[in-house]
Amino acid sequence: MKYIGAHVPVSDGVASAPLYAGAIGATAFALFTRNPSRWKSEPLTDEDVEAFKANCRSFGYTPAQILPHDSYLINLGAKDPKKLFMSRMAFLDEMQRCEQLGLTMLNFHPGSHLNEMTESECLARIASSINKTLDKTSGVKAVIENTAGQGSNLGFSFGQIAEIIDRIEDKSRVGVCIDSCHAYAAGYDLATSEGYEATWAEFDRVIGLEYLSAMHINDSKKGLGSRVDRHAPMGDGTLGMHFFEMLMADPRMDSIPLILETPDDTRWASEISTLKQLASSEK
Ligand SMILES: [Zn+2]
Ligand SMILES: [Zn+2]
Repeated sequence: MKYIGAHVPVSDGVASAPLYAGAIGATAFALFTRNPSRWKSEPLTDEDVEAFKANCRSFGYTPAQILPHDSYLINLGAKDPKKLFMSRMAFLDEMQRCEQLGLTMLNFHPGSHLNEMTESECLARIASSINKTLDKTSGVKAVIENTAGQGSNLGFSFGQIAEIIDRIEDKSRVGVCIDSCHAYAAGYDLATSEGYEATWAEFDRVIGLEYLSAMHINDSKKGLGSRVDRHAPMGDGTLGMHFFEMLMADPRMDSIPLILETPDDTRWASEISTLKQLASSEK
């Protein structure tokens, strides 16, 4: 079964996420468990946690269908010691919030070298940040998201992601989320049938399909290899509907969260319903 949803708002606290997701017909959802553009955040209260769990139960969401996303400020590969310290503290807090909510994955962007060190140095630093955090937590998988390769963001090639995973001590607690817009912008041609198959074959060869834990299913405003991260509504971008048809027919996408981060939230319900139809017509 395909778990299909969107990154939903938490304007009334984390417990509102499953309500919003239920209202748009989603069978998966992503959320921020703290303000993504602030370093400081209020702790989750027992009430928040209980209400979140109760709403998930009433809409039938299990942890396998929920993909929390971490804050944009965090750079696990920062050279500046203060930035690195703040990033690691915030990342630990993100992981602990997932533990509190009974969730099993945390999706994050690997980090940026900011032209202050080599790619390999930065990837090693990112891996060390992940190892330190995994040591202090349990039950939550660190899910690395591929990037579009904009600026000095790392993790745009499968090789870079594999280099991080190689250095992770507990490989049962690391996974990968592939964002289709980012992959396309980074030069992986998911739009054509041949390109789609070649991309997943390369993913399996370089990283290993067993690490695929989630997808962000966005169309792209910019072209193949543009290295520019601009999401487009489903079918309106350079990836196009054929990509979404292939994805919904692909058994490798079963039982992992498939999350829309498309720009027009008024279209999410219809995007989800179209995707569900595509998925069911393949059975
Ligand atoms: Zn994404
Ligand atoms: Zn993006």
